[in-house]
Amino acid sequence: MSILVYIEQAEGSVKKTSLEAVSFARALSDKTNCGEVVAVALGTVSDAELSNVGTAGASKVFHVADSKLDDGVIQAHAEAVAQAYQKVGAKTLILAKSSLGDAVAARLAIKLDAALVSNVVELPETANGYVVKRSIYTGKAFAQTSVTKENKILAIKKNAVDLKTDGAKASVEKVSLQIADTNFATKITSTDKTTGEILLPEADIVVSGGRGMKGPENWGMIEDLAKELGAATGCSKPVSDIGWRPHHEHVGQTGVKVAPTLYIAVGISGAIQHLAGVNSSKFIVVINKDPEAPFFKAADYGIVGDAFEVLPKLTEAVKAIK
Ligand code: FAD
Repeated sequence: MSILVYIEQAEGSVKKTSLEAVSFARALSDKTNCGEVVAVALGTVSDAELSNVGTAGASKVFHVADSKLDDGVIQAHAEAVAQAYQKVGAKTLILAKSSLGDAVAARLAIKLDAALVSNVVELPETANGYVVKRSIYTGKAFAQTSVTKENKILAIKKNAVDLKTDGAKASVEKVSLQIADTNFATKITSTDKTTGEILLPEADIVVSGGRGMKGPENWGMIEDLAKELGAATGCSKPVSDIGWRPHHEHVGQTGVKVAPTLYIAVGISGAIQHLAGVNSSKFIVVINKDPEAPFFKAADYGIVGDAFEVLPKLTEAVKAIK
């Protein structure tokens, strides 16, 4: 019995979070002797890109190459994945927890009469159904959820699993599905795209500044470090509220939720609402002049110091390494 993985792609590139979902599926399949891991990809993406999904553990990729699926219309994606699931004869669907993933998974739970568990952080116990560990209360606690339904959907938290990379290639099979026009009732009329910048939600490294930066005139220091690291820039909510930075950089519960390998927080106190947007980061570095700043409790590495002294030195150090 195969496991199906729903792959998200952006402009022809498979998202890292989807490769993590494939790695999770591979490990689950190995644990349960479940058979093949099959991925399903929708819209315009090259065969070469899709065959690389094999490196994370999929043996086959079903590719529904209909360009109408490029826009990520949720109903159409849910319908396509449901049909692929039936075609594969899977009983478990794995996908990445994301805005699109959440919306698609909720519809699939209804279509497939499946149990849906989101924010999964590790492989389930599989002795009797699944007992799944998931992150709750924006990462403050974990819950164990027992799943006994035959059809199961697990949405995997970003950065929760190690990416498998063994260099294997997946076979790519073009699949044509009948997706009724009613599934395309939502029309994307326009899209605003930032060009030339590293997009915050996708960034592997983020350098973020808070009110401790004192004013927009000091953001050059954040940008210099970000440039050297190839990072995106972010900020706390008050910083964008005051207008020091654009709103699309606002990170947190009410802003963008990031999941980089490295999050560097400069002059940000670490309020719970900010932490809610960064707790999927793999490593957090905090720079703050107050040793009691709450952010240090969530940090992997902390620098107690004045941002205006630390940032230029850090940027020089990164330059020297390069
Ligand atoms: P401050 O709390 O003022 O902290 C500034 C920090 O900079 C301090 O820790 C200080 O020690 C340090 N500092 C000062 N000078 C220096 C220096 N020279 N060098 C180094 N460090 C220095 N906030 C978010 O960020 N994202 C959200 O999504 C969000 N959503 C919210 C939703 C609700 C409903 C509410 C009520 C609040 C929300 N907030 C959010 C606001 C949040 O509660 C905090 O007020 C906010 O995160 C604080 O921003 P800050 O850390 O930049 O500023």
